[in-house]
Amino acid sequence: MKIAWIFFFIFILYTSSQDEYENRRKLMVSEQIKARGLRHEATLRAMETVPRHLFVPTSGRSFAYHDNPVPIGHGQTISQPYIVAYMTQIVDPKPDHKVLEIGAGSGYQAAILSQIVKEVYTLEIIPELAEGAKSVLAALQYNNVHVKTADGYYGWEEAGPFDAIVVTAAAEHIPPPLIAQLKEGGKMIIPVGSPFMTQSLMLVEKEKGKIKTRSLMAVRFVPFTRSN
Ligand code: SAH
Repeated sequence: MKIAWIFFFIFILYTSSQDEYENRRKLMVSEQIKARGLRHEATLRAMETVPRHLFVPTSGRSFAYHDNPVPIGHGQTISQPYIVAYMTQIVDPKPDHKVLEIGAGSGYQAAILSQIVKEVYTLEIIPELAEGAKSVLAALQYNNVHVKTADGYYGWEEAGPFDAIVVTAAAEHIPPPLIAQLKEGGKMIIPVGSPFMTQSLMLVEKEKGKIKTRSLMAVRFVPFTRSN
């Protein structure tokens, strides 16, 4: 009998903590994302659904839904929720799309994209982060995300071309292999600029074989590093 009560209380604690995170996600979407003018339905739904707290180390869970980037170890961070949502909606993701992400980190941005598009391919240069991302994504059964440890500068040629490319580390220039792997009519979002300085979030569009670039806002991302 006693045991049954203990299980009952554990169940109540578990379900109420789940509700609490769900409430925090709803607040995050209304106060940080909708309040700043983002209206893309599929993105808002994904941000309300994906458990962001499970992508951060346990010590950071209590501030996973704050209006800030969150450290994920190895000197890296998940972007602020608004930036994740902004970068998702700006590439105009559709249900039949195949998307490439450079900089898997925790796997959170890939998880958001996985709720909207058909397949997500994500590359991460730090093997431990790639492994961590793989196991959270597998535990959540986000089976349409493919994670690989590699230098994202070269993209993922065998899996391409891609309808959209999302780069989550700041590069000194736009890697030409990524432009080559973007489909006609495709969009890429990439922070460009020197490490540890303010960078420019650029939208790159391929139209009739021509490349159009537009600077959208000033941002600060962790650096795009190179393997060698
Ligand atoms: N999108 C991630 C954010 C991670 S921060 C998330 O949602 O959690 C950026 C990531 O880019 C870091 O993990 C960093 O290791 C990775 N990175 C930097 N340079 C890279 C490169 N050349 N190729 C692949 N990943 C790279």
